[in-house]
Amino acid sequence: TTALVWFRRDLRLADNPALYDAVRQAQRIVPVYIDGFEAPGTEPGGAGRWWQHHALAALSADLQALGAPLLIRRGEPLAVLLELAQQVGATVAVWNRLYEPAQDRADRRLAEALIGDGLRVDTFNASLVVEPWDVKTQTGGPYRVYTPFSRTVRARGLPRAPLPAPTRLDGVPGLQGLSVEDLGLRPTIAWDAGFAPVWTPGERGAHQRLERFCAEALAGYADGRDRPDQLLTSMLSPHLHFGDIGPVQVLSRLQRALAEQHGAGVAGGAEVFEREIYWREFAHHVLFHFPQTPVAPMDPRYAAFPWREPADYADDLRRWQRGQTGVPIIDAGMRQLWTTGWMHNRVRMIVSSYLVKNLLIPWQEGAAWFWDTLLDADQANNTLGWQWIAGSGADAAPYFRVFNPVTQSQKFDPDALYIQRWVPEIARLGKKSIHAPWMGDPADLARNRLQLGHDYPMPSVDLGESRGRALKAFERLKAG
Ligand code: FAD
Repeated sequence: TTALVWFRRDLRLADNPALYDAVRQAQRIVPVYIDGFEAPGTEPGGAGRWWQHHALAALSADLQALGAPLLIRRGEPLAVLLELAQQVGATVAVWNRLYEPAQDRADRRLAEALIGDGLRVDTFNASLVVEPWDVKTQTGGPYRVYTPFSRTVRARGLPRAPLPAPTRLDGVPGLQGLSVEDLGLRPTIAWDAGFAPVWTPGERGAHQRLERFCAEALAGYADGRDRPDQLLTSMLSPHLHFGDIGPVQVLSRLQRALAEQHGAGVAGGAEVFEREIYWREFAHHVLFHFPQTPVAPMDPRYAAFPWREPADYADDLRRWQRGQTGVPIIDAGMRQLWTTGWMHNRVRMIVSSYLVKNLLIPWQEGAAWFWDTLLDADQANNTLGWQWIAGSGADAAPYFRVFNPVTQSQKFDPDALYIQRWVPEIARLGKKSIHAPWMGDPADLARNRLQLGHDYPMPSVDLGESRGRALKAFERLKAG
């Protein structure tokens, strides 16, 4: 038999259940990628397309080396798969499941149609520890709160040991497809120059990150994961989103690290890190069961929230996007995002709280900007993150929690190293001024020839007043 192996966001050879199954049941396999397979709403943004390009190139080279080159086609998945099956005489199609609701629906319809046309279809779980429908509360519904969710799923342990990569593949010679280059995934403006020095998309890059994390950062993770000035988080998020690596592999490697390393902090680091991986699981669970949440608040009361009007906030939004708000920690984060396609989690919380609460700009605007600029842009995680900040989501932060960007900055970037790195125009200010130049020591500003409003912006809102304005709006909402 010949099997079609449809690659999507599982761009890896190891621990790839669909590929593993195909190799076991078929004599020949045809790995295929279909450009534009995504259902509406989950098409990658500009940064994600950059990642897709490079991860596909890496996968393509790896498959070629094993003997079955990646065939890239473009079009409607049903038509492409049917035509290809006919062309190579395939009787089986396999793929790994995706869980965004629109994608899941499209995949189920596709499977039915293929089966109707006489193909056998097998689908697998490559990207989650627990599939969204596999866990229910005691009353039979979906979880809305993280802690009981994670308690339940962690108690089950891992569903399998990571599967090995094939060592050889028998493909079908002579098939014509597109090249990765033909897909035109890379940005047409020169914006991605800062990505390549930081990232190696693809399976090998993912394992290098994981190894480095276990060797250099795991022991300090529990204490240091909130420090944007230190490199103590795994930076696995884009790899996990595109399936360069899967959570089962990550958690298994963590278990090995726990068995092998005995340094202080390793056990605590592993515990906290595992919890973050299960936040990702929770986000996928919530999105699946509450499919409206990428655009609408999960708590319907928030639909009436008095956001500012677009014409009124356009200028503030642009300044936020460009890292020109005048609040150094915010500007540092937004510039890190623009330049490297990633932002530290603590800073994501600070910049999103500032947008939603201090600027009263709808969280959907922030989520859309993140979608286009984050390499790890992920509908489940991004939605959960923004709704958490807005107070409207599953297990969200209480509405009265408004992050103070200045005290957050002083606490989590105490030596201002992160600010100095990303906001060089104020880098020489002393510790007293650098976290909030508008409240800084005038002599320090003068010494550095720094004129606020000219060399670096003045904030457009007063932090205290805008906090009060947000709290009033939230209180009115709660009162109905
Ligand atoms: P680590 O600390 O090393 O964590 C390991 C992995 O756990 C991450 O790679 C990620 O897959 C998962 N994880 C960690 N924190 C979270 C979390 N809070 N929610 C869900 N999963 C988590 N993450 C994305 O992957 N894509 C997004 O689009 C995204 N948007 C966000 C938007 C906002 C407003 C906020 C506050 C957070 C968002 N996050 C998102 C979550 C988090 O910031 C990133 O996952 C994390 O910073 C990635 O860095 P890391 O891989 O070094 O994390």
